[in-house]
Order: sequence, then structure tokens, then C-alpha cells
Amino acid sequence: MNSRKARQIAIVVASGVIAAGNGNVLAQHHVGIVGIVASVAAIFFTGLTLAGRVAGRPQTFACPDPGCDVTIRTTGYDADANHWYRTLAEDHTRHGRATTV
Ligand SMILES: [Zn+2]
Repeated sequence: MNSRKARQIAIVVASGVIAAGNGNVLAQHHVGIVGIVASVAAIFFTGLTLAGRVAGRPQTFACPDPGCDVTIRTTGYDADANHWYRTLAEDHTRHGRATTV
């Protein structure tokens, strides 16, 4: 497991723990179930959003061939993998034209 994945998992687990703790405190203070669910969901989904950002900036590689709409978008790959995808996208003979149904 690479360090980026480990950080993502740590963020999701931490946000789950914080959300559960917050829900427990709210329940002890007799907050309604709707308020508890909303608060727990907000904290947890904030954690998911942060974990998604840790994945890295997305990169988009497009085919330079006029009229070809092939693009490849990657997120969280290392330099070698991104090079492979860039080469695939920019060499029209390797992928042909995109088709829509
Ligand atoms: Zn192409």
C-alpha cells in the first residue's frame, strides 16, 4: 500500500471516529435523530472529500489528432503510469477514434 492510500484510509477512519463521537455527544444532550444524522453525515462526508483530495490532482491527456475526442483522465497514479497513459492518449494509432452510441 502506498503512502497516499494509507493517508486516505487514515482520513476516512478518523472522520468516522470523529463523526461517531460527535453523534454520541449529541445523543447524550438529547438532540433529535435528524440533527444527529445530519451532523454525523456532514462530518463523515467532509472526511471523504478530504480523502479524495489527497488522491492527487487529476490529469487529462488528449489525443492531438483533429476530430478525435479521445481523452484519458488519471488521478493518483505515479509518473510511470501517467507517462504510459499520456503516450496512449497522444498516439492516435494506438487507440483509434472514440465512438458514441
Ligand atoms: Zn485519437
